[in-house]
Amino acid sequence: MPRQSARLVLVNETNFMLYTPFLPEAAAGTLEPRHVVTPLRDILKRTYLRLGSIVGHDPEAKTVELRAKYGETETLPYDQLLLALGSVSRVLPVPGLAEHAVGFKSLADAIYLRNHVVETLEEANATEDPARRDELLTYVFVGGGYAGLEALAELQDFAADAMESYPRARLHGMRWVLVEATGRVLPEIDLKLAEYALRQLRGRGIDIRLETTLEQVEANSARLSSGETLPTRTVVWTAGVAPQPILKQLNLPLDERGRVPVDEYLRVRGSDSVWAIGDCAAAPDPRGGFCPPTAQHAVRQGPVVARNIAAELGVGSPQPFEYRSEASFVNLGRYKAVGRIGERTFRGFPAWWLARSYHMSQIPGAARKARAVLDWTAGLPFRRDISEVGSIGHRKPLG
Ligand SMILES: Cc1cc2nc3c(=O)[nH]c(=O)nc-3n(C[C@H](O)[C@H](O)[C@H](O)COP(=O)(O)OP(=O)(O)OC[C@H]3O[C@@H](n4cnc5c(N)ncnc54)[C@H](O)[C@@H]3O)c2cc1C
Repeated sequence: MPRQSARLVLVNETNFMLYTPFLPEAAAGTLEPRHVVTPLRDILKRTYLRLGSIVGHDPEAKTVELRAKYGETETLPYDQLLLALGSVSRVLPVPGLAEHAVGFKSLADAIYLRNHVVETLEEANATEDPARRDELLTYVFVGGGYAGLEALAELQDFAADAMESYPRARLHGMRWVLVEATGRVLPEIDLKLAEYALRQLRGRGIDIRLETTLEQVEANSARLSSGETLPTRTVVWTAGVAPQPILKQLNLPLDERGRVPVDEYLRVRGSDSVWAIGDCAAAPDPRGGFCPPTAQHAVRQGPVVARNIAAELGVGSPQPFEYRSEASFVNLGRYKAVGRIGERTFRGFPAWWLARSYHMSQIPGAARKARAVLDWTAGLPFRRDISEVGSIGHRKPLG
């Protein structure tokens, strides 16, 4: 097939790409939320973008069902289908979790959480009731992986600065708690670095409970496996991810975790025209096992699968996915981080600087890079912005 005859259609629920490593900074307000996303139309000049959700798939007919934003459904035919649907928060059957806890996966989650922290500070400053202040000023995060730890570190940093504007709440004091089921945090990195991170966070007054699980959540409390009930109005659930539930309706094979199994060419096992990458795929890791759900793997699988689909259409030759993660960083806020490049480990300010430089090189688009630098620079001489922007974007009814 000649190259120019291929037509690329991207179906996505939003018209932007979220750069998740910056999500904690968007929540903390060091980056403007719009500056952690890249408009897809700016970076995909030759791709036809359709906004909506894939809600069905017929592998025999080679069609997918697209539900558009305003509810209409449409059948789209394909020659080759690539699934990169990502993941959702892995919710465990903890009573009250779904009703009262919040996740930390999307831009909406980050904006919600920031507004919520500001609202709790406002309320805690206004109330005369010390028990209510306890609930408002206790923040519980569950899950000590990088997403949870970074979110907690950045938000605690933000709240500590914001406290200057809330003298009555400041007098009472805040409590930030991290609950982790296993005996360590940050399983993704070297144990020594994880212990350094733990010391840093504990040194800042963050209460870290290892080998502890969340047993029950209510509107104003969280019960832990230690038997303690924490008064709180904030439970943030960051205890792992699960594949998109919609995968179950796409008539594809799924492994025991609900991911789509693919071979080393990223082709769905048993199919000649469906491919999968990223968090939704169970792709063989060249080091053994399966690729972990990280952006590092997803973005490197992209060009490989593109090449393999082109090869299927008669252009070029296929190539197996071979990637070893060379670097990883975890931001601890306050100009500190931990990380590794190859065998070398870094901690403190050098790690933080390297992490920022790395992320700057990765966020797509010169405009987004420039905006991120401007946000960070503007944040140096000025105090944190504590405006609560929750009502923006939710218009009031007419009349
Ligand atoms: C807070 C946080 C911090 C992170 N930090 C790092 C980090 O520092 N380094 C790292 O390597 N990884 C990091 N990750 C993990 C990383 O974000 C994911 O591994 C990566 O985004 C997976 O890429 P993906 O393309 O598979 O899915 P995603 O990036 O989630 O993209 C999936 C896309 O599919 C769309 N979609 C979903 N369902 C449908 C549907 N039915 N129809 C149409 N479109 C649909 C979604 O809207 C989304 O745009 C972090 C994750 C979080 C939550």
